[in-house]
Amino acid sequence: MRKGLRSTNEVNSHFGLNLEPSSYEVFIPSHMNELIQKEGLEGIHAKQFLPSNLENSDDGLEDPIGDQQKYVAPQLIHRYDNRALFTPTTICPVICRYCFRKNELSSKHEIFKADFEKVISYLSVHTEINEIIFSGGDPFMLSASKIKFYLEEFSKLSHIQFIRFHTRTPISLPKYICDEFIEVIHKFNNRFNDINVVIHINHIQEITTDAMDCIKKLGARFSLLSQSVLLKDVNNNVRDLKDLFLKLHALNIRPYYLHHPDQAKGAMHFYLSIEEGREIYRKLRREIPGWLLPQYILDSPDGSGKKNL
Ligand code: SF4
Repeated sequence: MRKGLRSTNEVNSHFGLNLEPSSYEVFIPSHMNELIQKEGLEGIHAKQFLPSNLENSDDGLEDPIGDQQKYVAPQLIHRYDNRALFTPTTICPVICRYCFRKNELSSKHEIFKADFEKVISYLSVHTEINEIIFSGGDPFMLSASKIKFYLEEFSKLSHIQFIRFHTRTPISLPKYICDEFIEVIHKFNNRFNDINVVIHINHIQEITTDAMDCIKKLGARFSLLSQSVLLKDVNNNVRDLKDLFLKLHALNIRPYYLHHPDQAKGAMHFYLSIEEGREIYRKLRREIPGWLLPQYILDSPDGSGKKNL
């Protein structure tokens, strides 16, 4: 991480580019720079993680899924009755240029300010919540001791039965996840009914040998699911998605969500129409078994949640 690129200037000098400064954070870990160099600027890593002048457009929404209408305590979003999203960090293993939270993460919006006592007091009286979903930022960037602390605190609330982690780290910074971190979480398997890890991945070429090693370790301990975003010029074609979902199946990861891209300000160059997305999904349905097909969904900008497309 120390050798990663952290500004447009650094990206320009590393890749010989002439990009305008971006209004958004930049972070590309060093091993990913190597992948970008190997694949070239038209490769899927460059397209997803190199900043672009197109980010400086004013099109799109700062809060494209209505998070700010649903956050009920610092770092806590309660959108569906039975589950709450907990966002304990703004740190990510890479800054994805298509990120739907890019405006909130860059501004360190108050959604992310920590006040864990308020989180616990909200959860204590909302006994309808039976699942905590760790999101972010990326929860797998937390230390083992921090994860342990949160899980211990949540385990004191008897109505919390399920834990879910949404993470890109196993794909984008797999060596960061150490055995101690996995074991700390695994110890809570006895307390919770299920601990799921939802791995964020958009393209089969992101699955490196290191990523596979990490997935194997995680898969030995937890149920693994995936979520992907349909992105213009990255994976908006049947062949790439089919290859990805078949590979995920081979790795014992169940494809769970395929998100239609959100209309996030600074990420509109990844956007494609719902009609195009539906056409790709319709064709995909003819190519892979139904049980391997993730749900194709759209998060509503009004904060009301996911809708199947
Ligand atoms: S890892 Fe997730 S939260 Fe972080 S930049 Fe990428 S999409 Fe956004």
